Amino acid sequence: MSEFAAVELIMQKREKGELSTAQIDWLVANYTSGVVADEQMSAMAMAILLNGMSRREIKDLTMAMIASGETLNYAGLAAPTSDKHSTGGVGDKITLPLAPLVAAFGVAVPQLSGRGLGHTGGTLDKLESIKGWRASLSNEEFHRQLAEVGAVICAAGAGLAPADKKLYALRDVTGTVEAIPLIASSIMSKKIAEGTSSLVLDVKVGSGAFMKNIDRARELATVMVQLGQDAGVNTSALLTDMSTPLGLEIGNALEVKESVEVLAGGGPADVVELTVELAREMLRLAGKTDVDVAAALKDGRAMDKWRQMISAQGGDPDAALPTAKEHQVILAPSDGVLTKLDALQVGTASWRLGAGRARKEDPVQFGAGITLHAQLGSAVKAGQPLMTLHTDEAERFERAMEALEGSFKIEAAAIAAPRKILLDRIEG
Ligand code: URA
Repeated sequence: MSEFAAVELIMQKREKGELSTAQIDWLVANYTSGVVADEQMSAMAMAILLNGMSRREIKDLTMAMIASGETLNYAGLAAPTSDKHSTGGVGDKITLPLAPLVAAFGVAVPQLSGRGLGHTGGTLDKLESIKGWRASLSNEEFHRQLAEVGAVICAAGAGLAPADKKLYALRDVTGTVEAIPLIASSIMSKKIAEGTSSLVLDVKVGSGAFMKNIDRARELATVMVQLGQDAGVNTSALLTDMSTPLGLEIGNALEVKESVEVLAGGGPADVVELTVELAREMLRLAGKTDVDVAAALKDGRAMDKWRQMISAQGGDPDAALPTAKEHQVILAPSDGVLTKLDALQVGTASWRLGAGRARKEDPVQFGAGITLHAQLGSAVKAGQPLMTLHTDEAERFERAMEALEGSFKIEAAAIAAPRKILLDRIEG
């Protein structure tokens, strides 16, 4: 006879009870092996969303999900390791310049990434727009590249936290993505299993993020930092603004293009600022404090690492990036200052243009997306281009334009408040 019955655990959580360590271990192990059915785990996820979990329960859930699969370690690696995880945003291409930038200082970056679903793009989709670049590496290729180049961005194999993989897919279709215990354990189980010795979390706040307000973002960040520290990973979190898109380009190849501009010492100020802040934090956690991070973007050291990183995975860093077949320009209707440019609406429009996917099996259009010609706070003149929409299929423009309705505001007498990207910092 089984040690526990899933239905009893569901009822216990439904009545706001705490699950014991043994109960959580049993639930996760038996869900992974198929003994606990999807419908039972769905009910449990909803009970957790409604009634929450204690810190101890969240830690047990995270540890049980790690134990459901393999874990990596870098025992043979001379360099310290540091990684970053972003909770996802619109135009968030920071991983692309960040990984080679940090590697340029002798800190290895093992980035196991995912694909996009919904309005936020996935790092692997972006990199796959580079001719020849390969997301899947064997364990041996992964470790070799980390030792030789110092940075790897690749697909997480199926072996890491398989319980999370199953549960995440279930949450996606049962309205249970937003629960803090489930988000925190999902993200941290994968990052702890990945074996990095330090980790910086970029927790996004605002319309384009999971966390729409700063209090919930702070709560999520605090729980994740604690989980990391408890597991021996030196972890901190930055809370950063996602009420408006990051940078000027949204979409796969468009974001690669902008990342390369940053690596060449240029690029939009907000993307550069966040890249440098996160790099400093990753290096600090790895024990490197006396470094001039911005200089490595200006003098080509980060670009050299980028080229090595892309080439090592079969990519051609000099190949022309794909571009979309069709374009449509939105003009500013009046003179003034751009006082609103909503991240979620721009992200949704980009997704509808073909930059993202509706189901995980769908392909993405590499050239699709949106180029912004003005950012929040920019002064604009009537008739000047505000955005260019890109897609391979002109029939997509209509739905994208619907998503953009009311997405921006131009005010005549407005004084542009400077955008603040870094909103808070949570240390362990
Ligand atoms: N990313 C994850 O990996 N899991 C979540 O639950 C949310 C974001």
